[in-house]
Amino acid sequence: MGDKCMGPLSFPEHLNVRMDHLAKRIAISHFTQPPSSICLGTIMVGTNTVVSSIQHSLSFGILHKDMVTSLVDRWELDEAQFQQVVHWRCLAKACKQASSPTHISKWVSEDTATGLVMVRRHKQRDSSACPWCNAENKHLVHILSCPQQSAKETTQSLLAELEHWLIQEDTHPQLTAVLLHTITHWFNDPYDGNPILYQADEHLLKAISHQDSIGWYAFLMGCISTDIIKY
Ligand SMILES: [Zn+2]
Repeated sequence: MGDKCMGPLSFPEHLNVRMDHLAKRIAISHFTQPPSSICLGTIMVGTNTVVSSIQHSLSFGILHKDMVTSLVDRWELDEAQFQQVVHWRCLAKACKQASSPTHISKWVSEDTATGLVMVRRHKQRDSSACPWCNAENKHLVHILSCPQQSAKETTQSLLAELEHWLIQEDTHPQLTAVLLHTITHWFNDPYDGNPILYQADEHLLKAISHQDSIGWYAFLMGCISTDIIKY
């Protein structure tokens, strides 16, 4: 279906188009002439050399860079810092293991069926207002922090599930407590800044401050600080 009918491309669609475009460029520049020897030459994606598993490396190199650029633009972050803080392998692993990887990529690219997305793209709704509390322009941040009672009950039950999972995965009790405290605080008011932590050792404080630097919305989107993962 033409995009003139459907509105602007979503982020994943934009990536697909860009991936096609770059793959064609690579094919033209590297494979139109017969190779002079067995070696096909060096393939570069940005400044990285592709050394093995060409298909995987190409798609990772191209899509990862575009995803990072898009997220730092949208979340107003420093690109180098974002690249450095996030444990990317962990996000990739979560996507791979998820029962619905598309669901995760939709969350990360903010293409979930929020009021804004439904109105902008799918024309499936006349208003972008929250159906629970009628707040305008229902964005993902609002879905997670909607003050209406039934929305609060949902987030409470998700937090209980998260706590259960963290315990099951043998997460350090101090980290479990800090994560639940910080996320609860964020759900109550995502724009209030970060809560004060009274019970955290030096390493945990450092891990949390790294997450603070890219924000807890990024955490909820799966962009988790390496120091938190390794704590
Ligand atoms: Zn609401």
